[in-house]
Amino acid sequence: MTAPLVEIMGVRKSYGDLDVLKGIDLEVQEGQVVCLIGPSGGGKSTLLRCVNHLERVDQGAIKVAGEVVGYRWQNNSLHEMRSSQVCKQRAKIGMVFQQFNLFAHKTVLQNVTMGPIKLLGLSKDEAIERARTLLDHVGLLDKQSAYPSQLSGGQSQRVAIARALAMEPRLMLFDEPTSALDPELVGDVLSVMRDLVSQGMTMLVVTHEMGFARDAADSVAFMAGGEIVEHGTPEQVLGNPQRERTRSFLSRVS
Ligand code: ADP
Ligand code: MG
Repeated sequence: MTAPLVEIMGVRKSYGDLDVLKGIDLEVQEGQVVCLIGPSGGGKSTLLRCVNHLERVDQGAIKVAGEVVGYRWQNNSLHEMRSSQVCKQRAKIGMVFQQFNLFAHKTVLQNVTMGPIKLLGLSKDEAIERARTLLDHVGLLDKQSAYPSQLSGGQSQRVAIARALAMEPRLMLFDEPTSALDPELVGDVLSVMRDLVSQGMTMLVVTHEMGFARDAADSVAFMAGGEIVEHGTPEQVLGNPQRERTRSFLSRVS
């Protein structure tokens, strides 16, 4: 079997006295979708941020595509990466946040072309062609000249997904991508995510959408109090949870 695309090994992280990640082990195989569910404050966002170099781990290690996140080997010891190397590694990882984080003073098209031009060295024409294809896929080609303030939350999130995909990432991280949306806009975003699943994208998704977790995920991990309490197939974790903490969480969300 090939090595997992994401390997999270014994990861610990604290903020001062607060232990936020207490030894997390989790793998995502290439082409797989893993959903992380669990109560607020459990450490889900922190874990995703560690995978994407937005936070440093205190102990343990994370590998993405065989490379240790945040560190590199030199003379048989690990050194913190230079920022140029961090950028290179991060370019392989797309991240979509709850609050979209689009560039407010750029048009939709500019939001999507900026990364490929600046970080991948695409020509403007190449980047525009790629962006238009992606905006078409997410149903927003007609909004290419709009500014983020002119978009609904659901449209903003689909632009954010197109922007991440324009970097041709090997891995997509989603942190509650539909939590800030009005209920009637959630479906459009989930359907774009389902398209990605069917295209074989490797995804690590924090979500409260149990329907999505049930039918799109290869595995579901329930995280609470800085630990992965239970991890298995959607049928196991959502359908037949073994731990009391999982059961009580599920009874509250579904
Ligand atoms: P979740 O995404 O599961 O809701 P988080 O990873 O956001 O959980 O947060 C886990 C815990 O870490 C929470 O108690 C939160 O208040 C704390 N925390 C998160 N980020 C920071 C930070 N930058 N500084 C201090 N505490 C933080
Ligand atoms: Mg969170």
